Amino acid sequence: MSKTKIWLSSPHMGGSEQKYVQEAFDANWIAPLGPNVNGFENDLEIYLGGKVHVAALSSGTAALHLALILLNVKRDDEVICQTMTFSASANPIAYLGAMPVFVDSESDTWNICPVALEEAIIDRIKKGKKPKAIIAVHLYGMPFKFDEIKNISDKYQIPIIEDSAEALGSSFKGKKCGTFGDISILSFNGNKIITTSGGGALVVKNEDDKNKAVFLSTQARDNAPHYQHSHIGYNYRMSNICAGIGRGQMEVLDKHVDLRREMHNFYMDFFKGIHGVVILSEPSNEYFSNHWLSAIVLDSYDKREAMRLAFENENIETRPLWKPMHLQPVFSNCPYYGGDVSEKLFEKGLCLPSGSNLNANEKNRIKAVLELFF
Ligand SMILES: *Cc1c(COP(=O)(O)O)cnc(C)c1O
Repeated sequence: MSKTKIWLSSPHMGGSEQKYVQEAFDANWIAPLGPNVNGFENDLEIYLGGKVHVAALSSGTAALHLALILLNVKRDDEVICQTMTFSASANPIAYLGAMPVFVDSESDTWNICPVALEEAIIDRIKKGKKPKAIIAVHLYGMPFKFDEIKNISDKYQIPIIEDSAEALGSSFKGKKCGTFGDISILSFNGNKIITTSGGGALVVKNEDDKNKAVFLSTQARDNAPHYQHSHIGYNYRMSNICAGIGRGQMEVLDKHVDLRREMHNFYMDFFKGIHGVVILSEPSNEYFSNHWLSAIVLDSYDKREAMRLAFENENIETRPLWKPMHLQPVFSNCPYYGGDVSEKLFEKGLCLPSGSNLNANEKNRIKAVLELFF
C-alpha cells in the first residue's frame, strides 16, 4: 500500500477560505455568529435564486431536526422518508420520538418513488395517522421527481422536507435544488460538494421561519437581559470560523460542480462500450446533477464486490451505495412501502472516486483498475 490513497470525495479548498478565517481572527469574531455567518447565508441566498432565507447551522442533521420541529412533528407522529439515503435523513425523526415510514426508490433517479409514496400515504391514513412530512432526498446530487412528489404533497396536504445535502449546485427545470421543499436542508460536511469542515443550513421561504430556526439553534433565549427560556433550545448555530471557510468555498462552487460533472463524463466515456454496467445519469435534460458522486450498478453482487476489492488493492476508495434504512437494524420495526428497487441498488451498486480535485495521474490509476477489471 505504498501508493497514495485516492478518496471517494475529499475536501477541495479554493484558496480564499483562509482570508475569511483570518478576518474572523483579526476581529476576534470566534463565535457562533458574526460577519462570516451573515455573509455565507447571504451568498447562499443569492446562489439559490434570492427568494429564500438561509440559516447556517452546525450540520445538515441539525437542519433536518429543526425542519421537523418547524413542521410541528411530535412524539408518536409519523414522517415519511426515502429509504435509500444516509441515516442522517431519518435519525432526526427518531430524536423527536416520531416514527419513520420508509418508501422505496424508482429506478430513473434512484430517489423516492411517487407510486410507493402515495400507497404509503393512503395506507397510513387508513391505519389512523396522516404522516406529518415527506423527506425526499436528491441522492448523489440527482434531483428527485419533483413534479410527481409535489402533486402528491398537494393532494394530501403533507409538506415536503427537501434533503439537498448532496445536491447543492444541482437543478431541476432550471431551478436550484435546495429551493424545492416547503423546507430544505443543505450539508457542508467534509465529503460534500463544498465544505465548512462541518456544517449545514436550513432553507426556508420566509424571514419568520428563519428567525424561529435561529432562535431554536441558539438555545431559545427569550428577549430579556437575564437568561430566560420558554422553549427547549439547541446549540446548532454555525461558527463564524466555519462560515469563513464556507464563503471561500462559495467562490469555487460552480467550478467544483463542473469538475464533478467532468468525473461523471470520464466514467461515462469508459463505460460506453461495456455491457452490464448502469451509471446514474440524468433521465432527461430537465435534470441537472452536480454528480456529487458518480455511481454505477453492476449485474451482480459478486461483480460489485470484486470491483470494490480491485480498487481497494490499489489504495483507491469506493463505497457500496447507501444501505436502505428499512434494512438497518436500528429501523427494523418501522413500516416500509415499495418493492426491491433500493435493495437491488444496494446489492449491486458502487460509488466511484468523484472528487473535484482528482489529478490526471489519479484518473489514470482509476482507469487502469477498470481496464484490468473488464
Ligand atoms: C451528509 C448528509 C446529511 C447530513 O449532513 P451532515 O452535515 O453530515 O449532518 C443528510 N442527508 C444526506 C442525504 C446526506 O448525504
